[in-house]
Amino acid sequence: MVLALAPAGVLAQATLDERILEIRELSRFVPDKALAQLLKLQPELAAAPSYTRAEFLTQMSAARMRLGQNDVALDAAEQVISFGKSLHDNAIIAKGMLAKVYVLFAQAEVDAAHRLAFDAEKLALTTSDNPLKVQATITAGQTYAEQGNFPAALVKLQRAVDLARPPAGDALSLVAALNALAKLHVQMKEYQNASETLDELLAETEKLKSPGRMSMAKNTEYALAIDSGQPQRALRALLQSLDIERKLGAERMVGVTLVNLSDSYLKQRDYARAAQYAQESLRSTQQTNDKSVEATARLNIAQAYLGMGRIAEGKKQYELGLARYEQENNKPDLQAALREYGEALERAGDMAGAVQAYHRERAISDELFEKRRQQAMLELQEKYETEKKQRQIELLSRENQVKGAEIDNRRLQQRVWWLLALVFALAAAVVGLLYRKVRHTNAQLEVKNLELKAQSTLDPLTSLYNRRHFQDFMRGLNARERQDDIVGALFLLDVDHFKHINDNYGHAAGDAVLKMIAENLRVALRETDMIVRWGGEEFLAFLPAIPRHGVDEIARRILLSISSQSLTYQEHQISVNVSVGFSPFPLVPGGEPLAWERAVNLVDMALYLAKAHGRNRAYGVRGFENFHLTSMEAIEQDLERAWRAGFVDLSVVLGGDPGTHPTTPTEHTNVVSIRHAVQKH
Ligand code: GH3
Ligand code: MG
Ligand code: MG
Repeated sequence: MVLALAPAGVLAQATLDERILEIRELSRFVPDKALAQLLKLQPELAAAPSYTRAEFLTQMSAARMRLGQNDVALDAAEQVISFGKSLHDNAIIAKGMLAKVYVLFAQAEVDAAHRLAFDAEKLALTTSDNPLKVQATITAGQTYAEQGNFPAALVKLQRAVDLARPPAGDALSLVAALNALAKLHVQMKEYQNASETLDELLAETEKLKSPGRMSMAKNTEYALAIDSGQPQRALRALLQSLDIERKLGAERMVGVTLVNLSDSYLKQRDYARAAQYAQESLRSTQQTNDKSVEATARLNIAQAYLGMGRIAEGKKQYELGLARYEQENNKPDLQAALREYGEALERAGDMAGAVQAYHRERAISDELFEKRRQQAMLELQEKYETEKKQRQIELLSRENQVKGAEIDNRRLQQRVWWLLALVFALAAAVVGLLYRKVRHTNAQLEVKNLELKAQSTLDPLTSLYNRRHFQDFMRGLNARERQDDIVGALFLLDVDHFKHINDNYGHAAGDAVLKMIAENLRVALRETDMIVRWGGEEFLAFLPAIPRHGVDEIARRILLSISSQSLTYQEHQISVNVSVGFSPFPLVPGGEPLAWERAVNLVDMALYLAKAHGRNRAYGVRGFENFHLTSMEAIEQDLERAWRAGFVDLSVVLGGDPGTHPTTPTEHTNVVSIRHAVQKH
């Protein structure tokens, strides 16, 4: 069985703290000397600061424990914890807890030791005491290793090495951490890593100039060398270590080294030497009260006996050693011990005993496996729980996001609706305004159009229809002969000697006269009759429906309506006569209705006759006789001749005396129908 040394020593001077630190190192190798020195310091402690007192008590506990005085050691550890609690100082509490862990382990109260080790680590890591943090982390790592959880142990010990490195770390802490890590690598059979870590450990230990620490490192070198098939190197390391320890007087370490020496001879099947060293170790451990190492010494003695064929003695020693191993409950070590036991029994020919040992080994292996399985399950479960929580958190946050998005969305929608409503309202307003404007413009346009139309159809001076309007009107008129007694009629008027009025009274007076004539015509005729200003002082009236025999009467009324009225203009009384040419409309010479233009032309010729025959009269074309003997062209060429030839029937209506103002029209007008006989050739 291989054993590594527990932690080494320099010597004293200066402050109380520095002296305690030196005692601390000394205690690892020669606890009895350390205890004696601590007791000597006791009188100085009453005046010391609390942290110094706590460190003192801690070292008291460690020394007592190493001397096998576990009860006193435990009591000291508890004192440190209480002291720390009273001061609310986590560093002191953690120190006390660690001291208690080591005592509990020495008492083989393994489970309690393990639980407390992790608690101590947690607490230590909350402090700023770096050596304490390294120590606690190493202890946690070793605890995992004892439980068989090597991966977790590796993480812790690597962390401890990192913490112990410069700049935060210190040389002693680094050596302690590297030593623990190297041993773990050996245990995990990672010899390459173990070798690299060991090289660094040896180099760092060299710098410390501490024989105790060097002997510890040599023991670790031994463990690697013996397991990785370098027995010579292993033996050399052990002998160097033993030499140092003996010089130091480090009895506990001597015990360990002797056990390792026996182990190395067992591996070389040198059972006699193996037994010799193991027995030497046993005596040493009984002296130091180191139960753990004592148990290992017994196992090695047992193996040696079995190797030598002393089966009964061997079995007895084995059971004694295993009892302590079982008590300590260091499963990996127990498993290894049982396997070696089985192998030894097998070699010795005790097959039944071997099988029994293997069964026990299997049971522990299964237990370890089950423990790892459970651990893995726990870890999985923990991982699952964590992931579940993570998922729940994610779900909640996603839900929140979704809700947030929904709220945003709703807000956005509302905003969109408001905007749309606003846009619609604005659009409606704009459309309304535009509509009103269009309507207004249309109304204005209508007015303008009416005005334009009026302007284009009305004569500005008299407000009578103009010639163009009449032309348009006549073009749209269906000029057909009517067989009944109702006919249309055309009257064309020209003011007599109008030039005189302009000449005598001025153009404005002339205009006034023209306006008066227009007014008189409106009064004399019906609203349905169309009165047109035909030219300068010429007027035309188109009467759409009058009795056929009333045409002359209307001509008379026209003559009289004008001549009967006078105009007062600048103290002048102005009265005028007109001459009129007229005819019914349509005229139908030879059964064919005459176009309105030719009818007007004919009426104009009749007017010319009226002028020629004395003015203030109306000449009307009543109809045609023997039209087959002449032509319309001939008639139009000379109306008077056609009349005299008897082809045209004219009626003559005479107006009254222009100078006088007759009271009734009939008294001053008479109608003469002149019908010439048809000239016979
Ligand atoms: P008569 O017809 O009887 O032969 O004689 P008259 O003096 O009317 O002769 P004429 O037809 O040749 O002359 C018409 C005159 O009317 C000529 C012109 O100066 C005048 N006249 C035409 N239009 C207007 C008008 O709008 N205002 C005024 N004041 N005079 C006009
Ligand atoms: Mg004229
Ligand atoms: Mg005239």
